Amino acid sequence: MPRPYLGDPKYTIEVLQKYHFVFQKRFGQNFLIDTHVLDRIIEAAQITKDDFVIEIGPGIGTMTQYLAEAAREVAVVEIDRSLIPILQDTLKDWDNVTVINEDILKVDVRKLAEEKNGGRPVKVVANLPYYITTPIIMGLFENQVPLDSITIMVQKEVADRMQVGPGTKDYGALSLAVQYYASPQIVANVPPNCFMPRPKVGSAVIRLTRFQEPPVKVDDEKLMFAIIRASFNQRRKTLVNGLKNASDLSFTKEQIESALTNAGLPLNIRGEALTLEQFAQLSNEFARLK
Ligand code: SAM
Repeated sequence: MPRPYLGDPKYTIEVLQKYHFVFQKRFGQNFLIDTHVLDRIIEAAQITKDDFVIEIGPGIGTMTQYLAEAAREVAVVEIDRSLIPILQDTLKDWDNVTVINEDILKVDVRKLAEEKNGGRPVKVVANLPYYITTPIIMGLFENQVPLDSITIMVQKEVADRMQVGPGTKDYGALSLAVQYYASPQIVANVPPNCFMPRPKVGSAVIRLTRFQEPPVKVDDEKLMFAIIRASFNQRRKTLVNGLKNASDLSFTKEQIESALTNAGLPLNIRGEALTLEQFAQLSNEFARLK
């Protein structure tokens, strides 16, 4: 690996000092300084020389160096302008990396995949800024970006939420959304001392392998997700009350009770007890009422 090889904290400190870099809390900047974790992420992402990879938030380019070695081409999207000259320096030994200075939420990732990869499925890899983890992931899924997989570092608690099923406190709208689009698998738990500066919370790397087809058949996806959101907005209420009170749904109590009954669900059930299959079935019952 050419130098400065940033997996080594010594070089990370050198680069940060050379550029008088000031960490921006508002951008969730915690840079990886552990080679084992970097190796694990690259291994879990299963990157080959055929792949076009998008990295969200490259920081000073630590993981980008690994990705550039493993992939055919890499595009990185970094919001912090002060990191761009640093990236130009740390990535100068690779000619297969494009640096985009933009907010990932404003980038047309689908168009990027079309331009760089002929619309074929891309691999997304990121050590995500924790404050926008959910909008980033949901944006990738909902905007029909051709995806092979998303391999990401997130807050441990968020990784748990993506993986669990009904009957646990972490189960919620994020679990169902992720599991509708992808198969989640936690591949590593990462303690705070693997980052500079150290975050207050533990982290985990999770791989989301995109399904070719969703695991359940849903007639109206938007309606299903509105029902899911309404069910978890008022977690402690019964599903009937949660749906009745939802501002973006306009079903009567009678319609709700009849849909639940037709879906084989008891009227006193809470939303948090339903599996993805049951939400799909229930939303198909509601779709029939519309
Ligand atoms: N990938 C680097 C690493 O592992 O060392 C840095 C990870 S750091 C947790 C998150 C990075 O995402 C920072 O470089 C931050 O500036 C960048 N970032 C934050 N919000 C962003 C956004 N909306 N769009 C693109 N990049 C963002």
